[in-house]
Amino acid sequence: QTVFVPKESDVTETRVAASPETVKRLAGLGLAVVVEKGAGEASRITDADFAGAGATIGKPGDAAKADVILKVRRPSDVELKGYKAGAVVLAAMDPYGNDAAVAAMAKAGISAFAMELMPRITRAQSMDILSSQANLAGYQAVIDAAAEYDRALPMMMTAAGTVPAAKVFIMGVGVAGLQAIATARRLGAVVTATDVRPAAKEQVASLGAKFLAVEDEEFKAAETAGGYAKEMSKEYQAKQAALTAEHIAKQDIVITTALIPGRPAPKLVSAAMVASMKAGSVIVDLAVERGGNVEGSVAGAVITLENGVKIVGHLNVPGRVAASSSLLYAKNLYTFLETMVDKEKKAVVVNHDDELVKATLLTHGGKVVHANFAGAAT
Ligand code: NAD
Repeated sequence: QTVFVPKESDVTETRVAASPETVKRLAGLGLAVVVEKGAGEASRITDADFAGAGATIGKPGDAAKADVILKVRRPSDVELKGYKAGAVVLAAMDPYGNDAAVAAMAKAGISAFAMELMPRITRAQSMDILSSQANLAGYQAVIDAAAEYDRALPMMMTAAGTVPAAKVFIMGVGVAGLQAIATARRLGAVVTATDVRPAAKEQVASLGAKFLAVEDEEFKAAETAGGYAKEMSKEYQAKQAALTAEHIAKQDIVITTALIPGRPAPKLVSAAMVASMKAGSVIVDLAVERGGNVEGSVAGAVITLENGVKIVGHLNVPGRVAASSSLLYAKNLYTFLETMVDKEKKAVVVNHDDELVKATLLTHGGKVVHANFAGAAT
């Protein structure tokens, strides 16, 4: 069987779904690997690197012969036309709210796996693209904030005077937020953080940051069995806003990462809070692609408001460290694909009883098979 790794058709996508290491491993499983010319360019992986690992360098049309396609983004309608029916496609499918796209993949007859739906269980940890990419996004958010901030982050006591440490507030401490705390601490900032899940409290403390949250009964029950946050009530949101408003006014940098699976991002920073910050302060909205945590943040732009506060809304933040994020993303995909390879037949055989398959398979045999997206079928 053949595995095809295209150059991402979305020009804003810098990542690639394979690395020399994963190509070597795929070849080791007896699969032929074709990587499109230039696919790794933006991730600092050359065609020669891929060829050296055992891949053939190919062209977009090679997708037509592939049994497996490894991608970063969901295939476009044009790409789908070039795939053979029955092809197994692994990507970040972004299925929520995109029924038409899910239906199009069903119609194309592909077996589309949404990697972001991978369950958060021990067995699947190494296949978790949300974690591997969010970790780097959290790091990069601090780097972006530091680059936009006109002052130094660490306290510096020098003969010429003292530079105070920057105050950094992280809102939402899942994988991205925890890495943002760690990165800001390494840069010497004084860090505080908030979340609605009680489990976050101890994690924040263990990283040397201070935790701030409305810890009422709703807070105690805010974590779902899957480890995610629930959407909070209007009452809770009002209490949370009252608590954080005063705090935000005193911060130099605010980084927001709060998400709720399948829902728009919660609005945590109001225009009034933004207005309360001093000139030169920086807000990074990592949730901007999902509607944003910050009122006034603009997807794909860095804006400076009249009061001198900057709001950073970069798209595809993991893609800003593509040479690192591609390696981890590629490994996530490889690890999942390996569980589906029949070592004797040297072929991918989808086991529909496997809980990982059940959780991630969106379309198969011309149908939408995932219960959460049954609506897409009609
Ligand atoms: P996420 O990206 O869905 O959300 C980011 C953070 O925002 C979460 O911590 C969430 O609680 C928080 N949030 C949501 N609404 C909020 C609000 N109104 N105010 C403040 N914060 C809000 O989360 P994630 O990074 O995917 O992590 C979710 C959980 O999964 C964490 O507990 C994480 O440790 C856990 N996790 C487990 C595994 C595993 O066991 N294999 C792997 C990765 C993550």
